[in-house]
This record gives sequence, C-alpha cells and structure tokens, in this order.
Amino acid sequence: MYRAGVQSFEELTNIPRSLRAALEQEFVLPDAQADAVATASDGTRKLLLRYGDGVAVETVVIPDPPRLTLCVSSQAGCAMGCRFCATARLGLRRNLSSAEILSQVLAARRILQAQERITNIVFMGMGEPLANYENVVEAIEVLTAQWGFDFSARRITVSTVGLLPQMERLVRETPVQLAVSLTAPTDELRSKLMPVNRRFPVQALVDVCRRLPLPQRRRVTFEYVLLAGINDQLEHARRLASLLRGVRAKVNLIPFNPFPHAPYSRPSEDSVRSFQQELLAHGVHTTVRRSRGLDVQAACGQLALAHGVGPARSTGEARAMGSAATVSGE
Ligand code: SAH
Repeated sequence: MYRAGVQSFEELTNIPRSLRAALEQEFVLPDAQADAVATASDGTRKLLLRYGDGVAVETVVIPDPPRLTLCVSSQAGCAMGCRFCATARLGLRRNLSSAEILSQVLAARRILQAQERITNIVFMGMGEPLANYENVVEAIEVLTAQWGFDFSARRITVSTVGLLPQMERLVRETPVQLAVSLTAPTDELRSKLMPVNRRFPVQALVDVCRRLPLPQRRRVTFEYVLLAGINDQLEHARRLASLLRGVRAKVNLIPFNPFPHAPYSRPSEDSVRSFQQELLAHGVHTTVRRSRGLDVQAACGQLALAHGVGPARSTGEARAMGSAATVSGE
C-alpha cells in the first residue's frame, strides 16, 4: 500500500477480494486529496490538503537537486505562539493522526514528476511535532519501516521549539535528526519571541542538548530565525557562540520570511552574512537557509492558511491561494 501509494483497498488486486472487503470494513484510508497545488517560480510546490472534518494543512515540496525535500505538517495550526510565525496566529485546531501525516507524503508523491523522488522529509510545516508526540513517532515508524516507506531515518528531521521531555524521548526512541528552534541566545529575548521559553529556558535547553545520547558524528541543528534589528546583531552572534560551547551543534540561520501584518522584517543579506561570519569566527558550524517558495507563501513560517484551516470551502476559493503563482487544481 505505501510503496504503490494506493488510494483505496480496491486497488489491491494482488490480494483476494474477500480480504479487500474485510479491510474495507475494518479500516479507513486517510483521504488526502490535494485541494490545490501552487507552484512557485523556483519550483517549490505547496499542497493544500483537506481532511474529512474540513481541517486543512499544507505540505511543501522543495526541489534542490540532487535533493527533494518534503516539508510536512504535524498539527493543524499550532499552540506555541511564536511571535514571528504565521501559523501561530491560527492557534491550535487539532493534532494530526499518524495516517494524516503519512497521507501528506502520499499526496506529495502523486504530484511529482516521473524522475522526481523524495529524498528528505522535514517536520517543519504547520505545528509543533513534539506536542503531537505519539502520532509523529508512529508516522516515523511507518516512514522508516521496511514494510512501509523504507525511508532512511537519517533523512528525516524533526524540528521543535524545545519541549525538553519529548526531545529526550525522541532521541532515545528514534534515529531521526533533531533540529531545535532557538532564535535568541538569552532568556529575556527568547521569552519575548517564543513564549515556550518560560517553560523551557535557554540554558536548560542547551544543557539537555549537550547531554543527548547522539549517535557518532551526529550534531543537533539549532535554527535561528533572523529578525532585523531584534536578534541579528554581532553581539547576539557572540552570545550564541558562547552559549553553544561544548555542544555538538550546527546553526542554521533562517532570514525571516515576511507574511501580512508581521511585526518583523527581514535583515539585509549583508547583515545575515556578517552574523554568519561572526559565528564561524567563533568556531560554530553555520549555514544560511535559502528561502524557497516565497512567492506562494510556502516558506518557513508562512503556512498560515487563514482561508484553508477553517470550515470546508469550495475548491475555487482554495485555488485563490498563491495568486502570484501558477495554480492548478488537483
Ligand atoms: N514547531 C516547530 C516546527 C515548525 S517551524 C519548530 O518551531 O521548530 C519550522 C521553522 O521555521 C522553525 O525553526 C521556526 O522558528 C521557523 N519559522 C517560523 N516562522 C518563520 C518565519 N516567518 N520566517 C522564517 N522562519 C520561520
């Protein structure tokens, strides 16, 4: 089922009809038709998937040859309230089931071109994956099982705001890559930007990361969203470098992706580069994330979907998303 990506038990013509009927009675296949697909000028494709109760999420296909990364959602909306994230504005609608998470992979595969194959999966869409721990781990099991998608766990990344107990559990229970959204080097600043910091402050977060039983040569990725004039000064880079001393870390800088009414702006390329240089000069392995799919609001933190997560609407309205882009109904 997973390998062939069947959409109904009827398609399983290699098993007896009576068994198909029994499966039909006992199980429901997640219905994940893509309402719309928006294609950005850089080839990034954003799918809007609506589930039975009208709740919708977004999944993003990001070609970056030889890689093709799929960015999946773990929740409809999010309860974490990060100030710079569009999804936070929706609040939490509900957790996605493991089947609903997996259905994003199936739906994405159906829109790929013949020569395209998903090489990486990142839990960086809507939602906080570790706030939906059981379902996310179940989805990872199916993704990595030989009887499932047979996907390498090293090519799966779970990104979290830093829910410490679940983070430690994840590293113990699964071999996936961990990414932690840090975004500020001090409690004062981080608590303003990410309310979760009041529960799990910077130092505790970094201490846990220092002690994680990571496999050999594995590092924790720290994501740092750069907000112009807020957390992008060289002083912040120096504090970050000293904070991460002794942690097997790499930093991934994400220049802020704007969305309507956002109270922040994107720093200049020069200041992003200076920030990176400062970290590198202090011996911190640092990369800058390229923003993809900006023109269809498919970049990090832009998956607000104000029109998509509410009650079901006509496909025509759903298609209105990404007006700047080539939009094709699915
Ligand atoms: N809840 C998880 C995963 C979803 S967000 C987490 O927070 O890690 C994936 C990444 O996008 C996070 O690092 C988050 O900080 C970042 N992000 C959120 N809003 C953004 C924005 N507007 N611009 C750039 N990155 C953003």
